[in-house]
Amino acid sequence: MSSRRKFLKQSLLSTTIFLPEGIKKSTELFQDRNVKNARKPRIISTWNHGLAANEKAWSVLRQTGSILNAVEEGVKVTEADPASRTVGIYGFPDREGIVTLDASIMKGNGECGSVCFVRQVKHRITLARKVMEETPHVMLAGEGARQFAISQGMQLEEEVLHPESEEAYLEWLKEKEYRPIINIENHDTIGMIGVDADGNLAGSCTTSGLAFKMHGRVGDSPIIGAGLYVDNEVGAATATGLGETIIKVCGSFLVVELMRQGRSPQEACEEVVGRLIEKNKDGIEDMQAGFIAVNKDGEYGGYAVHPGFNYAVQGESGNTLEDARSRFS
Ligand code: ASP
Repeated sequence: MSSRRKFLKQSLLSTTIFLPEGIKKSTELFQDRNVKNARKPRIISTWNHGLAANEKAWSVLRQTGSILNAVEEGVKVTEADPASRTVGIYGFPDREGIVTLDASIMKGNGECGSVCFVRQVKHRITLARKVMEETPHVMLAGEGARQFAISQGMQLEEEVLHPESEEAYLEWLKEKEYRPIINIENHDTIGMIGVDADGNLAGSCTTSGLAFKMHGRVGDSPIIGAGLYVDNEVGAATATGLGETIIKVCGSFLVVELMRQGRSPQEACEEVVGRLIEKNKDGIEDMQAGFIAVNKDGEYGGYAVHPGFNYAVQGESGNTLEDARSRFS
């Protein structure tokens, strides 16, 4: 039996899900618990690029009162940042030298939209929102997504690599070593989740994915339940890191479901990172993955496999960067 299969077998034997005896409404559970950092409204986003994104999101929330507008406009800041090598059209290409982009957006009532493997669209998050609002579908991919962008009047960007991305790509071409690694030096996605003063939630997630990935590779970010999940009854979660590991555990959905069962956002993130490690034992030392979560009351948490993951937290008292705790040190 391959070691991968052996690990999988072991983890299936050792992973037991304990369901609560009586299912309480999540709101009752929050009331029962000593909620220490709860204070809504709240906006949280991954990595330090989240600080600028939060600032924009917060001002949009103030101006429009819409948490959906806030999470869309917030991540657009990062999508448009020419200094970002890991989120937008200025990012690192795939191994064919083409930048392909993924994004998803979700509302607390379950409405959602996403796009994946799309080229030339600067604001994929807006395209994902249009999929949600203008089509009967959830997800559009590749050329179909690009055609839909055109049909919606969105402008396509010229397909030229940013000079720094081109330089990195030319360097990578020398060895062409295919190692799909995401660690502290090589991280991408901005995932943003937020709750307004009335407990309405929304989330967004957008990325250029793994640097020098196989053409056509899609990670967790545009997959509802993996890279993002939002439920107005409970809370929201988003993920960053090696997407394959996150998809295998339906990571963001699982965080929200654990909060539904009574875990705090911090406890839920920790439990899902534990599950992710169980399911991805091969190569765990070389990869990074992390989750952030917020519940309806504005209580939040974050956790990662390895040190180095941080997230930006915006509330009434300001916008700060917090270092996530991690399973390994
Ligand atoms: N999760 C993204 C992906 O796998 C990348 C990242 O968050 O760093 O495409």
